[in-house]
Amino acid sequence: MAIKKQKQKKSPPKKIETDKNKKLSIAVAKKKVTKTTVKKKVKKTVAKKKKLKVSAKPKYQGEKNFLASIQPYKIKKTERYMNARQKKHFIEILERWHSLLVVEQDRTADKLQDIAGNFPDESDRATHEEGFTLELKTRERERRLLNKIDSAVESIDQNDYGFCSACGIEIGIRRLEARPTATRCIDCKTLEEIHEKQQFGSV
Ligand SMILES: [Zn+2]
Repeated sequence: MAIKKQKQKKSPPKKIETDKNKKLSIAVAKKKVTKTTVKKKVKKTVAKKKKLKVSAKPKYQGEKNFLASIQPYKIKKTERYMNARQKKHFIEILERWHSLLVVEQDRTADKLQDIAGNFPDESDRATHEEGFTLELKTRERERRLLNKIDSAVESIDQNDYGFCSACGIEIGIRRLEARPTATRCIDCKTLEEIHEKQQFGSV
């Protein structure tokens, strides 16, 4: 018996044996590690989590919060309207907004899929229809906003950005910072809204 065992050990499954040994030594090592450095390990994972939180992509907090986060451009008295520096300022705003929205849109799509996937039963789904409809509306709004941002970036490239599409005057830095996708000056926008109200009689 003893000889047989030895033979078995020595000859064929050498690899398995070494693997076994490795596993064993790893297990022993692990045991030692967990016994002595549990506290350190916990600290490490906490640190890791914190790090992850910091390096994670910034979450989109909605249009209002995004607009509030815009750092106002410092206008020099002598500078020309929509010079290169101003253009850069707005390109940066629009691109930041764009990338935040794209991430947010993915999350909205995931939510929609979750709702659809979690409630395959029609009656169940009906109770969640409100949430579903809300997410659909959100997605549609995000899509429209992304389109507006895209055309704003395009208009910067074509040197049209910042000028009213109706009357041609300067829209103004401050109005653009409050509404980076604006295509009309405040007067034309107000007029348009009055016309709309008259047309649809929403007063
Ligand atoms: Zn105008």
